[in-house]
Formats: sequence, C-alpha cells, structure tokens
Amino acid sequence: MRPGIESLPRLVSSAAGVRIRRVRESSCQPAVVVEGRRLISFASNDYLGLATHPAVIEAWSAGARQWGVGSGGSTLLSGHTSAHSELEDALADWLGRDRALLFSNGYMANLSILQSHCHRGQTIVQDRRNHASLYDAVRLTRGHLRRYVHGDVLDAARQLKRSAMATGALLVTEGVFSMDGDQAPLAELARVARAAGARFLVDDAHGIGLSGDEGQGTVGACRLGQDDVPLLMATFGKAFGTYGAFVAGPAALIEILVQQARPFRYTTALPPALAVATHEALRRVIGEPERRSRLHEQVDYFRRCARELDLPLASSSSPIQPVLIGSAEEAQMLSKALESRGIYAPAILPPTVPHGKARLRISLNASHSRSDLDHLLEALSDLCRPRA
Ligand SMILES: *Cc1c(COP(=O)(O)O)cnc(C)c1O
Repeated sequence: MRPGIESLPRLVSSAAGVRIRRVRESSCQPAVVVEGRRLISFASNDYLGLATHPAVIEAWSAGARQWGVGSGGSTLLSGHTSAHSELEDALADWLGRDRALLFSNGYMANLSILQSHCHRGQTIVQDRRNHASLYDAVRLTRGHLRRYVHGDVLDAARQLKRSAMATGALLVTEGVFSMDGDQAPLAELARVARAAGARFLVDDAHGIGLSGDEGQGTVGACRLGQDDVPLLMATFGKAFGTYGAFVAGPAALIEILVQQARPFRYTTALPPALAVATHEALRRVIGEPERRSRLHEQVDYFRRCARELDLPLASSSSPIQPVLIGSAEEAQMLSKALESRGIYAPAILPPTVPHGKARLRISLNASHSRSDLDHLLEALSDLCRPRA
C-alpha cells in the first residue's frame, strides 16, 4: 500500500524512514559545500576524479559546440551519431568484445538486458545483494527469479541446477557490490554458468575503470573474455565521472538488445557531447593509471589505520568502505555527528541494505588528500568506538 497524504506526518516523525535530498552547491570534488557548509565528502562515486578533469570538461564543451546539447531523437530514429559509434567501438576494443552498445543509464541498461534476454519461463538466478535495478528488471520479464546467498558459488550452482536445463537460465551478479564493496567470485561463477548452459551477466558499475591493467574492471582483471562473460554491463556515472552506460559482448547478443530492448528503443539517445566527454574519460582511464594506483594507496591506508583503530570495517578492498553500524538510528546519528565535524558521509539504511545492517558507506576517491583521510579516521575513532 502506498502511503497516503494522511499518513505523511507519521512518516516524517519516524526519522529513519524518510529520505531527504541534500543540496550540494559546489562541483563534484572531495571539498564540497552542502547547504552553505564546507564539508569533505566521502559520498561520491567519482572514484578517479574524472568528473572535474579539465580534459573531460573541455571535451564536453567542444562536443556541445560541434553537436549541440541534445541528441534530438531515439537511437533508432535520428539520435545516433558518429560520436556515439566511435565511443562504442573504442569500448568494444578496450574490453575485447565484438560490440558495445550505449544506454541512457545503468538502470535502463539492466532493464533492457533482462527484458530482451529472458524469454517466458526462463530462470533468472541472482546474488541476493544485486543492485535494485537488476531486481526491478525481473518485472519486465516473464521469467522466474531465484536468489542465491551473497557470493556463494555453490548456492548459485544449486539454483542453476534447479532451473531445468531445458528452459535455460541467466546468472546475474555485480562485479564489485555497491553497498559492501566486496568482489564477486567471477571466475567460479563463469564456470558454473557455463556448466549449466546459462548465460552470464556481470554488472560492473563499481569495478569498471578501477581494476585491470587498463582499467577494464573486475571482468578484465579476472581475464574473463566474452565467452566467459557474454553480457558485460557497466556505467559511466561512477569511475568515468560522466553519465550513461553500456553493454558489451558478442555481436549476436548485442543485436538482440538493439532489436528487442524496449528501454533502449523508446528513449532519447544520450547527448553526443556526452559521448565525446565519455570518450575522453575512457582515454584518461586507460592513459592515467596513476589515478588507479593513488586510489588503491588510499584504500590501503584507510584500511590499515581503521584496523588499528578497531573500526567495524567490512572485507572490501575496493574504494567502497562500509563502516557497519547495525541500527538505522545509530547510523544516522553517526552520520550527523560526522557532519558537525565537517565530514559528509550519509548513512545507508534499509531497504537499500538488509534490516539491522545500516552503515556508513565511505567512498574513497583518488582526489582525497591524506589529511582528508586522517580527518575522517580521527572523527570515526572518536565517535565510533566498539562497545565493550
Ligand atoms: C549505479 C548502478 C547502476 C545504475 O546506473 P545508473 O547509470 O546510475 O542508472 C546499476 N547497477 C549498479 C551496480 C550500480 O551501482
């Protein structure tokens, strides 16, 4: 049941249930101004600092001068340009895939993949902690959903086996989990998918750009080709610092998306200038590996210090470093207390994470300074001593 107007006052008073949007008044960088206050942000997915990279900004401006600001149509009618197609070719090349296809955003890419690749009666086997878009996408299919225990290859294999081999199945995982920061056992999952004759989809929104020799993400770092991971999806809104998403894979599978995916067909194509900017971001992902090294140094430093301080960390080696609190109220109180010390780190509450698993989701960026991290660590150690 949807809350009616009459139930609003009750909702507002149950502090943990109501979400509010904070208004940021500065660009996407670690030092932000939120509602008039200067804070250090640990809340952005701009892991490599590319959202404000001068070359990416310049590419966007030049793209707008050349192409105008909008695409003017859906991709199958008039919105597809050489700027889009050059980016698609560069992505396919970089990832060793036949083809890549651009989408408006990751949410719609996931809707598209499941809607077009799951026929009636097919089983969709998903990690329990997969992103909401992957679960929402199931509703666009006539398939059956089965969930496996987070990261558990044996359970995934069991669920795949239970879905009659005849109907086929799709196995779906994130590469790096967005709320926990841990990595999926991709090589093993690829193996069980293949053994079960299932297609394998990896959503690498939080891995792309961050691992692999040239930043090809968790799939690239595990050296999994398109036979192992036929559907590789990732977004540009995180490490690339721009906006949009793509799916890469064998030509025949990409063509199914073009022909059948409704969230691909019935929407306006990305602005070509954005494709130009994203292409520049890709060059920086490949050509500026020092951003990746710096980020990994930040993660190592943060974890080393946090361990010494006995902070309740999760086992994550990615820039997503959850500080596990448990109660939603306490997580919110901690977030507020951090804010009064000049740190912006919103609490992540149920239903985004399971009940009793509220947390701060600390997100580290290559552009944080050592003193930003020290400031955060000091505040956390004061505010969040483990209870005796
Ligand atoms: C952010 C995210 C998405 C959605 O991508 P958008 O481009 O922001 O719509 C999908 N999957 C995962 C795992 C994400 O983290």
